[in-house]
Amino acid sequence: MNKEVPELNVGIVGHVDHGKTSLLSKLTGKFTDTHSEELKRGITIKLGYSEMTVYKCGNEYSNKEIKGKKCQSVRYVSFIDAPGHEMLMATMLSGAAIIDAAILVIAANEGIKPQTREHFMALQAKKIKNIIVLQNKIDLVSKKKAVENYNEIKKFLKGTICENAPIIPISTLQEINIEKVIEEIVKLEVPKKDINTKPIFLVARSFDINKPGTKIEKLKGGVLGGILKKGKLKVNDEIEIKPGLSTKKANQEIYQTLTTKIISLHKGAKEVNEALPGASISIETNLDPFLTKTDSLTGCLVSEKNNLPEITYKLKLKSKLFEEILGTLEHQKTEPIKINEMLMLSVNTTITVGVVEKIDKEGKEIELSLKIPIVVITGDNVGIARNFQGHWRLIGWGEIIQ
Ligand code: GDP
Ligand code: MG
Repeated sequence: MNKEVPELNVGIVGHVDHGKTSLLSKLTGKFTDTHSEELKRGITIKLGYSEMTVYKCGNEYSNKEIKGKKCQSVRYVSFIDAPGHEMLMATMLSGAAIIDAAILVIAANEGIKPQTREHFMALQAKKIKNIIVLQNKIDLVSKKKAVENYNEIKKFLKGTICENAPIIPISTLQEINIEKVIEEIVKLEVPKKDINTKPIFLVARSFDINKPGTKIEKLKGGVLGGILKKGKLKVNDEIEIKPGLSTKKANQEIYQTLTTKIISLHKGAKEVNEALPGASISIETNLDPFLTKTDSLTGCLVSEKNNLPEITYKLKLKSKLFEEILGTLEHQKTEPIKINEMLMLSVNTTITVGVVEKIDKEGKEIELSLKIPIVVITGDNVGIARNFQGHWRLIGWGEIIQ
């Protein structure tokens, strides 16, 4: 039962209200919209996290062990529930930075909507080619409409790296074909990760897990949640966190690298001594939990002490823009990037904004001055968004040159 099974981190993406959070609660038994604001508004605002172990019971795959059948765990999946609301593209992008594969949910009664398109392009920009497409809410449509919607999806995928992605009609509400989704999840290719290298861990959230009123001697250290991109992490490892702690001094934001030790490692509810790249993990550190509470370290990178490059406020990248602005109802051409324009960039789980200072003749290589510093690893992929009618819209992607 406890033997290592293949692991991966899967993102659930798609337009708001198409059924992402409902599907996840069916798969994992956990409802990810748990913040009071989300419950009030009925939409996912932050990234949601949950996980599932898939069992093979006889010839069947299941998300739980089936009584009376011999079951064996075959795969462990952590999920990231992305917000589908148009205003929350930055959050969606930092989610897309840490996933290995994705489930794109499209409500059959509504079809392809602006954030279906925008999320799909974000996956393409992040080079995520393992995608399962779900036609959800088939209980709401006629057979004819379901076929029309299927053809619409086929056309949408044509010519992309996901052209042959499986498309499964489901009803989350009536629990139709949920087992097919599990079967497809088992088929998802587990990407090979480099483990014989220094670790790079991307912080997607950070928190204080102590209940109010806990005695000082019982306090747990600050916790970091996220994805190990490469390398290994072990209990007792000395680590550094960059950009680290931000404080204001004379109206200027100062960043201080944090160093600490790994106290414990967790994969879902399970405690482990060592972590390899795979599903989401959380790291309990020796840090004062005050430093990690309420996502204060989200977007940071973690590695072995003295391994990360210095933070930078300057960024040079090679950009590629989409032909048209996605994520809005009207189809408009994407204007070239201009000098002095403000762009939002997502690099790993970091979100920053920067002013364009230089553009080469072809308009491809751009240099920016950043408001929030980042840790640059040459070759890393960057999502580029532009403010359009008051919201950040993904307009293309880039590769870091330096
Ligand atoms: P999200 O914004 O994509 O996370 O969507 P939610 O999971 O919050 O679902 C939005 C609404 O659609 C909720 O009221 C769900 O109950 C409903 N819903 C989800 N799946 C289905 C389905 O298969 N059939 C029907 N009829 N409604 C569904
Ligand atoms: Mg949701």
